Amino acid sequence: MGIEEKLPAGFLLTTVENVAGYMRKSSVWPVTFGLACCAIEMMAVGTPDYDIARFGMERFSATPRQADLMIVAGRVSQKMAPIVRQVYDQMPEPKWVISMGVCASSGGMFNNYAIVQGVDHVIPVDIYLPGCPPRPEMLLNAILELHKQIQTTPFGVNREEAARAAERAAMEA
Ligand code: SF4
Repeated sequence: MGIEEKLPAGFLLTTVENVAGYMRKSSVWPVTFGLACCAIEMMAVGTPDYDIARFGMERFSATPRQADLMIVAGRVSQKMAPIVRQVYDQMPEPKWVISMGVCASSGGMFNNYAIVQGVDHVIPVDIYLPGCPPRPEMLLNAILELHKQIQTTPFGVNREEAARAAERAAMEA
């Protein structure tokens, strides 16, 4: 008989990581950051119509040092790329990235020398959200999908370094 079956009704077993994951996902703070037209839709999620505060996100952080989510909303110009990277680097771990819209994810219709052909050339991306622009409901749905990832992110892991190590291992294999 497992320990769960021995406990009286009303007891719940979990792990510290699970509790921390639950808390993290319930209070994500996006960094205040918009690049182009997709940012208008991103701003709409803060209005009463869409009410992002329902998901513990009352506040877009004015400083990257107090933010754990970057929503890349709009095309990333070559000139802007180092700044995107700098803002990302200033965010503390653990942190997550949503690439919002076709331009941020792949350059979209801007297949030219001035636009980075996907923000994942600059920073790691957790969720790619298609559309031009994605509607606010789609962004909320992407955030809920991200919550699932946040809930299961282990303690003390630098996810970018872990991804690089996995990439290196795959290349060496
Ligand atoms: Fe603008 Fe569409 Fe590109 Fe978003 S995906 S930045 S709405 S052109």
